[in-house]
Amino acid sequence: MRVRSTLELERLAYIDGLSGLYNRRHFDIELERRLSSHSPSSQWATVVLLLVDIDNFKVYNDCYGHPAGDDCLRRVASAIALAVPGTWVTARYGGEQFGIILAASGQSEAQAIAERVRTSVEALAIPHATSSCGIVTVSVWLAAAASGTGVSVRKLVAEADSALYQAKRLGRNQTATHGQTAP
Ligand code: GH3
Ligand code: MG
Repeated sequence: MRVRSTLELERLAYIDGLSGLYNRRHFDIELERRLSSHSPSSQWATVVLLLVDIDNFKVYNDCYGHPAGDDCLRRVASAIALAVPGTWVTARYGGEQFGIILAASGQSEAQAIAERVRTSVEALAIPHATSSCGIVTVSVWLAAAASGTGVSVRKLVAEADSALYQAKRLGRNQTATHGQTAP
């Protein structure tokens, strides 16, 4: 019994209770590790960071209630995890934000994966009467950096925040790369 609760406590240290995905703490540790390590194979030398933010989620809660909001978070989390199998980390980054770390062969593959995340949430078609799309959507930001080149986590995440803001300004339900956007 004691062994089981110790295991449970260990699990809670890196798993988010609501979504079942990894938590922010684990995400930060892994991002640091992946950015600083040298890839043994140049084929997978690009570290890709995706940040995903549910659009107009505050009004979703206002309209349908907090428990329905929690349900929506779980469904979006599952859709994201299914859209990006075999990634290094898929995590709940904060309230209605998710973070994904994966390896890719280059920028165009990374962009295709980001689009797959966005469309997989769109395909759930969760009704959202107070959103202009009428359904729950997400904005996705993408950053790619070569591993082992000294790019800092802080710099990558700071760029993410500004690009995500840009995607929101351009109308939401968008995939944005730092400095450019693609509908
Ligand atoms: P935007 O499109 O600009 O992202 O707008 P937004 O409304 O999604 O963003 P905002 O930051 O204004 O609101 C986020 C909302 O997410 C507010 C908060 O109540 C809700 N939220 C955060 N964590 C949880 C949670 O665990 N459960 C539920 N139900 N809601 C949550
Ligand atoms: Mg949001």
